[in-house]
Amino acid sequence: MRHSNSQAEDEELRRLTPGGVSSPVRAFKPYPVVIDSGQGCRITDIDGNEYIDLCMAYGPLILGHSCPRVVKAVRDQIKKGSVFGTPSEPETQLIRKIASTVPCADMVRLACSGTEATMHAIRLARGYTKKDGLVKMNGGFHGAHDAVLVAAGSGSAGSLPASAGVPKDAVKNTYTVEYNDPGSFESLLDKRNDIAAVIMEPVLGNVGVVPPQKDYLQQMRKITESHDVLLIFDEVITGFRLGPQSAQGCFGVTPDMTTMGKIIGGGYPAGAFMGRRDIMELVAPNGPVYAAGTFAGNPVSATAGLTTVEMMAEQNRYDRLAKRTADLAERLSDLMTDSGITGCVQHIASMFSIYFGIDEVTCGGDAAKADREMFGKMFGFMLNRGVYLPPGPMEVEFMSAATDRDAVNRVGDAFDDFLRSVKRK
Ligand SMILES: *Cc1c(COP(=O)(O)O)cnc(C)c1O
Repeated sequence: MRHSNSQAEDEELRRLTPGGVSSPVRAFKPYPVVIDSGQGCRITDIDGNEYIDLCMAYGPLILGHSCPRVVKAVRDQIKKGSVFGTPSEPETQLIRKIASTVPCADMVRLACSGTEATMHAIRLARGYTKKDGLVKMNGGFHGAHDAVLVAAGSGSAGSLPASAGVPKDAVKNTYTVEYNDPGSFESLLDKRNDIAAVIMEPVLGNVGVVPPQKDYLQQMRKITESHDVLLIFDEVITGFRLGPQSAQGCFGVTPDMTTMGKIIGGGYPAGAFMGRRDIMELVAPNGPVYAAGTFAGNPVSATAGLTTVEMMAEQNRYDRLAKRTADLAERLSDLMTDSGITGCVQHIASMFSIYFGIDEVTCGGDAAKADREMFGKMFGFMLNRGVYLPPGPMEVEFMSAATDRDAVNRVGDAFDDFLRSVKRK
């Protein structure tokens, strides 16, 4: 192994914090690498080994690590103070920016994470409709709070908790349907009149990358409208990644509400929920739906997020990044085909994912059939070649505006060698 932080150090970490990590997907065997610094598309571990980073902290770093303009803006803000518990100018500017670019956003409320954003948005949807039912997609991820921690159950039977400690009562109103299957969603709504909202990622991004099929999102819009159910797009990943107007602008489908996180914090903790004025007016102090947070809208995160969002809109960055991602994904896909190994590479904008053992993934059910063991082998191989992929087979590979040609070529070469090593066995 290239990364050689001592076994003693690793054991100490595991004794002090569960699995030696602060979030479970970061754990892998024999032990996670401990990163010391990041610059552009590269990260360096505590032993000085360098990796091309395709994890990018799971999404926030669309400009890469330590982008000089973000660092300067944040440093200037920190000198003035980090949090006041009052409105601040960076906060207002970020809100104005989101409201002026994201189609559904008549009003915006900032939060501290994607988890908080979806938790508040779901409460608001329930408060607005005065109904309790919630629909989510099989494989859809909306953070680590009770209402959305459900195992994929059959839609009509309700759901079971996906985590110990989640009361059955907390998820009994949560229903699961398959993504890219508007028919099953519509028949669920035909059967039930207690559904407040459907929350969905417009592009599934937590079972690899699964883009919507033609007209799927348009159909979801029509079905929700005709059944009087709110459509919530969870754009925590796709927000300001698919373009300045996010996935809703890209696909031309405007939801009633949207949640964001990751990129709008520019590498610092942030979240937001937004939507139609008549819905958002119900949020406290204007209305009866409670949502609050000490660090919500803090000027440091707001400054980093605003700088990131503004910079991405300049110099054709979105198009160039999408092109570079498509080039890499196509090369990986061609290598897979040439090797004769079954699998596929799916991509959109600056996200891609590699699946083994399956030709196409169109929903969470398909993704569950992918070959996880092969992914694990690839992960270890790539790590030894200086490429840091997210450790989980269901995570997305993220490109950044700082991911250069040389990095892309090295990732392709390492993947080629991996496929050859598999075939030799
Ligand atoms: C990451 C993610 C979340 C949770 O965001 P946190 O900031 O990690 O709490 C919610 N929804 C989606 C789609 C995500 O990818």
